[in-house]
Amino acid sequence: MNRQPMVAGNWKMHGSPKSINQLMDALTEQDLEALTCEVLVCPPALFIEQVKRLTNDKIKVGAQNISEHHKGAFTGEVAPDMIKSLGCQHAIVGHSERRQLFRETNEQVAQKVKALLDCQLTPILCVGETLQQRDAEQTMTVVIAQLNAVLEVVGIDAFEQLVIAYEPVWAIGTGKTASPEQAQQVHAEVRQWLSSHSEDVASKVRILYGGSVKSENAAELFGQKDIDGGLIGGASLKADDFYQICKSA
Ligand code: PGA
Repeated sequence: MNRQPMVAGNWKMHGSPKSINQLMDALTEQDLEALTCEVLVCPPALFIEQVKRLTNDKIKVGAQNISEHHKGAFTGEVAPDMIKSLGCQHAIVGHSERRQLFRETNEQVAQKVKALLDCQLTPILCVGETLQQRDAEQTMTVVIAQLNAVLEVVGIDAFEQLVIAYEPVWAIGTGKTASPEQAQQVHAEVRQWLSSHSEDVASKVRILYGGSVKSENAAELFGQKDIDGGLIGGASLKADDFYQICKSA
């Protein structure tokens, strides 16, 4: 099964109308036709409309987070249909910063996945362990618990609509990248978990790696058998770096 690689940029809480104009100008100037991967950028929700206006067909625009509710008295939240109405097809869910800083539980993340699927949107489901958990050899226990919570709510067939991003927490924003072998090992085990439920689904689901991906290490990471691209934080804010990473996929 040939899976089209994806490279997604997570801009986190960065940017202003001006800096986003500059970044999108610099990105759309690149030779995007030379890219074979699917390219996505996820700006802060407030700037989705601006980025949508500045982008072209080659760069899709998604959200960094989404409510598990469709409407109602949820101050400050953004519903799946709202991003869909702006032309988005994707949203990141369960990023480790959401899990750690905003106390999102596995169950809540699973409800967010369901809410997106209800609206025919593609969740980019982040999973990953902390350094403490890795040191205690709990990596796969943690990752599988995160996946199982989603499985219980949406069932295995729905995983075909998902993109999974393995992001070891200790590698996010720290400059410490998982080695290609370390990453591949977890990706292979995630695919193995998928195939224990459905081989067909396992062969189709893209599993991205995230955590200090840079233009210098992207090619080797993306060259691993079960790594289907990346979720990029810091380096996605620099057009040249992001483009080079996309080229490596
Ligand atoms: P980083 O972030 O590339 O800056 O490590 C990755 C992420 O948080 O998705």
